[in-house]
This record gives sequence, C-alpha cells and structure tokens, in this order.
Amino acid sequence: CGIVAFRGLEPALPALLDGLAKMEYRGYDSVGIALNPGDGRTLAVHRTSGRIPALTALIPPGERSTTGVGHTRWATHGAPTAVNAHPHVDCSGSVAVVHNGTLDNVSELQAELVAAGHVLTTEVDTEVIAHLVEQFLPHPPFLAGGVAAPSADDVARAVEQATARLRGSWALGVTVRGLDAVVLTRHRSPLLVGEAERFAMASSDLLGFAVGTHTVRELDDGDVVVLGSEQAWYHRGQALATPRAGRPAAPVE
Ligand code: GLU
Repeated sequence: CGIVAFRGLEPALPALLDGLAKMEYRGYDSVGIALNPGDGRTLAVHRTSGRIPALTALIPPGERSTTGVGHTRWATHGAPTAVNAHPHVDCSGSVAVVHNGTLDNVSELQAELVAAGHVLTTEVDTEVIAHLVEQFLPHPPFLAGGVAAPSADDVARAVEQATARLRGSWALGVTVRGLDAVVLTRHRSPLLVGEAERFAMASSDLLGFAVGTHTVRELDDGDVVVLGSEQAWYHRGQALATPRAGRPAAPVE
C-alpha cells in the first residue's frame, strides 16, 4: 500500500527506508526492498512480515547501490508473510517488482505462465507481473547467464507489454539486473515522480520523497516513466517531449 523508488548519484538505501517509514501511517502488514547494483551483479531483495527495523536488520552493512525500490504491503492475494511480501521476482531473480493495487485476472495469467514453463512460488497477484516482464524482455537468456543487459527502452517496452495483459489496478516500480534504472507506470492507483539535484524518486505518497526533492509530477494512467541516467516519459510507446505538468507540489523540506 506504499511504493518508493530511487535512482541517484548516492546510495539509495537511506532514502528508501526513510520514505517507507514516512508512509507507515497508511498501515501495512509487511515490507520489503530491492537494491540494484546496476552493473550486472544480482539484485539484493530483502523482505519481512515485521516492521521497518526488522527489514533494516536484514540488510548487510556497506550496501551502496544507487538504485532501488521499496514497498509496504496491504495483502489482497496471499497471506501477509515474508515470502509474499514485495518486491516480487521472476524465475531468475533478475526482475523485481513492487505493486500497489489488485489484479482481477490473476488465475488466467498464472495458468498461462505455468503453461509457458514459469515456476510461480506464491499466490500473490504481483508475482505474475515479474514473470510477464521477464517474458517480454528481448533477451530472457541474459537473465539465466550472460547475454547483453537490457536497455532502458527494452525494460520500458516490456513493462508496457506486460501491463497490457493486466486487468485491475496497479502502480508499479520495476528494476532489472544489469540496468541502473527504475521503470514506473500506473493504472487507477496513484504514483508520483520527483526530481532533485542528485537523485530522482517515485512514490505513491508525497510524504515518501526525500528532502531536496524540488519537482513532483503525477503520472497519468498508462504513462511509463524511466528513472535512469536521464528521466524519460512515454505514453502508448510514444516518447512525451515534456514530462506531464501534473499537479504542482511544494518542495519537500
Ligand atoms: N495486491 C498486492 C498484494 O496482495 C498489492 C497490495 C498492496 O497494494 O499493498 O500483495
């Protein structure tokens, strides 16, 4: 029930934990985080059915990845356990997804994915999104071992193709092994993107942004935004020349 994403020139962890803590007032049953070193090394995914200090205790000291996503969950599909907490990952652990909202066509998608050879490990609706994104990446074998890492465009397209299959509501943050970026999109769940001097962030709540965020914009349904070396906005596969004006927000102090 709360999302936060970070991509910057400094470690992502402090801003992610702080954003999750500020969204605690919304209530949640479990919490998790994925940190992406961005250089091809594996994603670090940590999840707990405890509170934020329990999550913090799971993260090894010296974690310095500059890209990551975090989530507080209010379970709709599957019990509030650590295994069911977000981020959810694909078969190879290379695609991490955080999701607010609920999917209406989960059983259909689960059946399709299983028939295509995917191994699903939970009943959570969100897990199917990770597998769909994996499926739509141009070089799925990369995920198993070593072909070229995907580009930001590849991931944005895969996210758009995956969401075309979904029914229900979603605000999504997706990060993929080998790419120093987070791809975001929404449909009937709120999602905001903010910019600062040394980082870009996304959150479902204005409170989730770190101090210094000076511009916050709201995604429209169907917008796909890449927080990467540059910020890029798309709608139905078309690049938007200027990001959406959205709702002006006061600087976050
Ligand atoms: N439907 C998802 C789940 O059950 C996301 C719930 C949420 O918005 O926290 O995990």
